[in-house]
Amino acid sequence: MLKGKNAIVTGSTSGIGLSIAGALAAQGCNILFNGLGNRAEIDKLVSDTAKQFGIRTSYSAADMTKPAQIRNMVKEAEHSFGSLDILVNNAGIQFTASIEDFPDEKWDSIIAINLSAAFHAIKAAVPGMKARGFGRIINIASVHGLVASAEKVAYVSAKHGLIGMTKTVALESASTAVTCNAICPGWVHTPLVQKQIEAKAEANRISVEQATRNLLVEKEPSQRFTDAKDIAAMVTFLCGDHASNITGAAFVLDGGWTAQ
Ligand code: NAD
Repeated sequence: MLKGKNAIVTGSTSGIGLSIAGALAAQGCNILFNGLGNRAEIDKLVSDTAKQFGIRTSYSAADMTKPAQIRNMVKEAEHSFGSLDILVNNAGIQFTASIEDFPDEKWDSIIAINLSAAFHAIKAAVPGMKARGFGRIINIASVHGLVASAEKVAYVSAKHGLIGMTKTVALESASTAVTCNAICPGWVHTPLVQKQIEAKAEANRISVEQATRNLLVEKEPSQRFTDAKDIAAMVTFLCGDHASNITGAAFVLDGGWTAQ
């Protein structure tokens, strides 16, 4: 369906971004991977994906806290693939503490990676998308873009901001063939969430299994995780022809979290 289209997926070396890159690759889309991790493992991921799906792949080590590196990543994709059609802003980090104990540097890095990186990437990508007459921008926000949880002041602020950015870019692009949407997952079992589960297990002196159950019971009525593959399927749909008039929307995949 997306054969010959060219995509950047930020934070695609792990978790949700890795699933999104795989799903777009399976549709025939060329992929520029981005994210942190072991370089040899990343190189293998990049070349294995190209071989498995018969597509072109590349990798940018751009640090999402560095605007100039983000701009270069977009240029690299346009230069090596010939165009950038799909931009998935997915890279993200988490840190939990009450506001009075929240380290300033954690606030700065969460705002940089989870919010400002999307601004810099979209700003760099939109002119080419508008000029070529096709663009799909998908921001991986969170239920925390719609509702809050205690001890997540930076994350909740960044994700609420990301949904505002999504709506603004959608309005500015509404008369063009560029769409911009957000996806708001509830709990997805990735390394980002596993760290939170382990911290809760330690703090409450309970097993990791019990902490996992507590995490789901507290927030997610379905009492199960959303599968990263389901988020990837939503991204794929939003990139396709049937989504050409969907823009400025925030889709929840949250097992009923925000229905409460
Ligand atoms: P993850 O930790 O598995 O993956 C995060 C990715 O971001 C990794 O590839 C990592 O290398 C990359 N990254 C981190 N800092 C970076 C930096 N400075 N520069 C470049 N890349 C960087 O986490 P995940 O759970 O897959 O999260 C992906 C996105 O989904 C995040 O935006 C997160 O907020 C969002 N999300 C996750 C959940 C969940 O339950 N896991 C729920 C809602 C939203």
